Amino acid sequence: MKNGLQKMPNKNIKSFVSLIGTRDFPLFKSLGSQMKKQKMKRESSDIVVADPYKWSESSQRSYAFECTKEYKDIKYNCCHCRKDTIFSARDQKYTYEVKKVPIDQNRILCTDCWKESLYIANEIRESEKKWACSKNILKSDNGFLLTWLELLEKHERYTQYKSNTAAKNMLKKLINENV
Ligand SMILES: [Zn+2]
Repeated sequence: MKNGLQKMPNKNIKSFVSLIGTRDFPLFKSLGSQMKKQKMKRESSDIVVADPYKWSESSQRSYAFECTKEYKDIKYNCCHCRKDTIFSARDQKYTYEVKKVPIDQNRILCTDCWKESLYIANEIRESEKKWACSKNILKSDNGFLLTWLELLEKHERYTQYKSNTAAKNMLKKLINENV
């Protein structure tokens, strides 16, 4: 802009200055705030270019493969604690293109609840392993059986579907027999 002004004849500079105003330069101000807004939008990265060729093989056979050009931030409420949560565009790219998670898999939990549900799932797997090795001893250990049952019931509250019905029924039966 400075160079542009230098090339202008004096007369033109005067009319240019009077046009944009000398007190507070409204033209520059509005341009400035517009540029600032655009910069903020870029920084929040709510849109990221998608590369569906990096998806898992099954995702590449899906309808979404043809029509997904970009990821946008997805807002949702955690189904466990109801907290406002964002599945960011950047996180979607990582999830589908690096971790190769199926494209039709939606987020339902916030980060904290997701971590907690993974922890519980891991504890359940540990119980199953112990059970497989020492079934005969553990079937009369109500402490172990109750903890396992509690983990299964707790995990259902994070996943919103009933799972392991057979395991729960077996545990309830054994616990009652031991009482
Ligand atoms: Zn949550």
